[in-house]
Amino acid sequence: MNFRKRKLEGFTRMTTMSQPKIKRRVGKYEVGRTIGEGTFAKVKFARNSQTGEPVALKILDKEKVLKHKMADLIKREIATMKLIKHPNVVRLYEVMGSKTKIYIVMEFVNGGELFDKIVNNGRMREDEARRYFQQLINAVDYCHSRGVFHRDLKPENLLLDAYGNLKVSDFGLSALSQQVRDDGLLHTTCGTPNYVAPEVLNDRGYDGATADLWSCGVILFVLLAGYLPFDDSNILNLYKKISAAEFTCPPWLSFSAMKLITRILDPNPMTRITIPEILEDEWFKKGYKPPVFDEKEDANLDDVEAVFKDSEEHHVTEKKEEQPAAMNAFELIAMSKGLNLANLFDAEQEFKRETRFTSKCPANEIIHKIEEAAKPLGFDVHKKNYKMRLENLKAGRKGNLNVATEVFQVAPSLHMVEVRKAKGDTLEFHKFYKNLSAGLEDVVWKTEEDMQQVK
Ligand code: ADP
Ligand code: MG
Repeated sequence: MNFRKRKLEGFTRMTTMSQPKIKRRVGKYEVGRTIGEGTFAKVKFARNSQTGEPVALKILDKEKVLKHKMADLIKREIATMKLIKHPNVVRLYEVMGSKTKIYIVMEFVNGGELFDKIVNNGRMREDEARRYFQQLINAVDYCHSRGVFHRDLKPENLLLDAYGNLKVSDFGLSALSQQVRDDGLLHTTCGTPNYVAPEVLNDRGYDGATADLWSCGVILFVLLAGYLPFDDSNILNLYKKISAAEFTCPPWLSFSAMKLITRILDPNPMTRITIPEILEDEWFKKGYKPPVFDEKEDANLDDVEAVFKDSEEHHVTEKKEEQPAAMNAFELIAMSKGLNLANLFDAEQEFKRETRFTSKCPANEIIHKIEEAAKPLGFDVHKKNYKMRLENLKAGRKGNLNVATEVFQVAPSLHMVEVRKAKGDTLEFHKFYKNLSAGLEDVVWKTEEDMQQVK
């Protein structure tokens, strides 16, 4: 049994054939598992029931968005994002509203987060980092040219598709997280501001374009160094370091990479390098190919209007349907790899933020054993039917690690258990899963790794 390098996540859903499972539907979408939880939204996997296409469904609290002093800005940016079809930007398909929620339907990106690569393999070679950085700049440049800013560029928003292309998510949505900051929640819910520009921290009003570039500089540094340029367990010290752009380049950086990073991490937004200057930079230019793509011409913005007008006649229907809960082959595949079978054979997919194993034990016993194994590791265990949420009582690097597990019945005496990081740091999740799995040896029949070897 090989549990190495496995991560666990926290919501356990347990369904059995004898027990009906609740299926959620929003409009034409069948809503599935939670993919992630950010600071102000939940992201769920969903499927367009007409076309079968997988999507990511971002769910926001309507009241929070509409009451927001930036509602107009958000509306304008969402409308613009609907028109954008760039290879390095997560597509925004449509927006729906119900009485209490706003649903943003996005392209489902299934290759995980870019930084999982750093967590698992350490820093990148310059050529590899440059390729991702070029894609990042392409995305940022394009959205800026359309008047949309990100304002929250950070590892969680840098996703990879099945072909290893970078896709930036949440463009135009971050005025929302800005609100969270304005509410004074920065120190708690948002984690540390390692990627935030000094002028944003100083809170004197700032330009979205130069602030985004700063974050790109921090990202480039992490790709090449394998660690953060600004880091301190004391938040005030961290603010000071950022404001003074106090960082040291590691000795292995090439001179031209160092030069570029230093030009981006200029604490003065007025003298900081601009995108046109980056495009001319010697280090950046190597092997650069400008992106080729078609713009989307036929987008209809009525949905955005309807949601922000909060017109009841346009409310999307939300339904909960009771359905037999046996997991079929389609669901198994969808859960495993977001429908992309190519991923099954991709060795680099090894380090995901979720994993699964099968067990021949009864469901209750699995739940019980997970609880027993998690408690001594300092986790608070919440159970709801066959779902579990494991919450680390101690705050980690990115807040408390939250792990979700879900148990599915595949056959009468065979269960599949999904373990997923719901919140917190990926590396801490890895460590947790390793420890947890040690306590589950007599429950686990096969790990995902074993299952893939059978292929
Ligand atoms: P954050 O503020 O951390 O970006 P989000 O609510 O945007 O939070 O998303 C939470 C997590 O869900 C992300 O960290 C990411 O791993 C995952 N996620 C977000 N959007 C997508 C998507 N379009 N496809 C696949 N995974 C996604
Ligand atoms: Mg995000």
